[in-house]
Amino acid sequence: MVKETRFYDLLGVGINATEAELKKSYRKLALKYHPDKNPDPEASEKFKEISMAYEVLSDKNKREIYDRGGEEALKEGGGGGGGSSAMDIFDMFFGGGHRGHRDNKTKSIVHQLSVTLEEFYNGKTRKLANTKKVICPQCNGIGGKEGTVRKCAGCGGLGVEHSLRQIAPGFVQRMETICSRCGGSGEVFSEKDRCQKCDGRKVIRDKKILEVHIEKGMADGQKVVFSGESDQEPRKETGDVVFVLDEEEHPRFKRNGSDLIMEMNIDLSEALCGFKRQIKHLDGRVLRVSTFPGEVTKHNVIKVVMNEGMPHYKNPFTKGRLIIQFKVSFPRSFMPGPTLEKLEALLPKRREVLHDDDIKEYDLLDIDIEEIKAQSHQDDGPRRVQCQSH
Ligand SMILES: [Zn+2]
Ligand SMILES: [Zn+2]
Repeated sequence: MVKETRFYDLLGVGINATEAELKKSYRKLALKYHPDKNPDPEASEKFKEISMAYEVLSDKNKREIYDRGGEEALKEGGGGGGGSSAMDIFDMFFGGGHRGHRDNKTKSIVHQLSVTLEEFYNGKTRKLANTKKVICPQCNGIGGKEGTVRKCAGCGGLGVEHSLRQIAPGFVQRMETICSRCGGSGEVFSEKDRCQKCDGRKVIRDKKILEVHIEKGMADGQKVVFSGESDQEPRKETGDVVFVLDEEEHPRFKRNGSDLIMEMNIDLSEALCGFKRQIKHLDGRVLRVSTFPGEVTKHNVIKVVMNEGMPHYKNPFTKGRLIIQFKVSFPRSFMPGPTLEKLEALLPKRREVLHDDDIKEYDLLDIDIEEIKAQSHQDDGPRRVQCQSH
């Protein structure tokens, strides 16, 4: 398990991506967002982020640090050890000022949002309640009557208290804790000047309804971002609320990009003599599919209906393909006798084998393919171990 995935997300790769996959993805994205190629100012921000993510993930040591502790760990790791540390990377791309900027933004809040395939197909607006801290409207985030604020005596306005704690005989650890008197703000008000609404906390809890527009053709993992809808704090930029769309499994359809894939069971008579079948689509429409007269449908054969797959994102009038794999239900057995003879008369002639007493006859026994696979795995096992011990 990794602590954070942001760098992997930036590069559009999974957490198990190989070096080659990282490089390929980085090259593609760098080309797209390079400031020389893309004049959009947001692109240049993005380019920096992608480059930083690649810089970290392409280095074995840095990747390990990031996997274990996230971006925070990279910053902490800076300074020590010499050579190019993770700290250098942050400075290189963001300069001194940017780090301050990063810390000066409240945390973004990320939610997973379950979305059905029907919702991805038809589009849907979901209303979700978002509870967050907002600047107290009574005191405008001051915490009390303007001009009456005093520096906290407990921490000298720093918001943190330092204490020494003996952890073992002769070993003393310097502890930093949030100041209990001012709650970390470094500021206090006297009882009468303190804001009644927020009790001097400067923020209050508030609930807001967010409308998440799931657009036609959006995909699993896609993010809907509400800029500046995270917790507010005085003198800080507000982070975002992010919904990550999570596609639910569908009982009939599987999605592969803009294609929909389904299985259809047909009887042997339908496979041989043709069929008409109806499919209920994700928007409730009924589609009819049929074979030509005399057309035989083989078991596992795949057919396609054009333009009946998923709508393309931002271009919903063009759609992918509906891919149908046919499963023929064969009868378990036929009664020997007239039925079988009639059937045989209709079907292509059977191959004949001459009788020969010298040739031994065998029965065919049933076996499960999974069983065969399981056995062959067992056979592999010991051989591999032997190889390693050379
Ligand atoms: Zn207030
Ligand atoms: Zn204090």
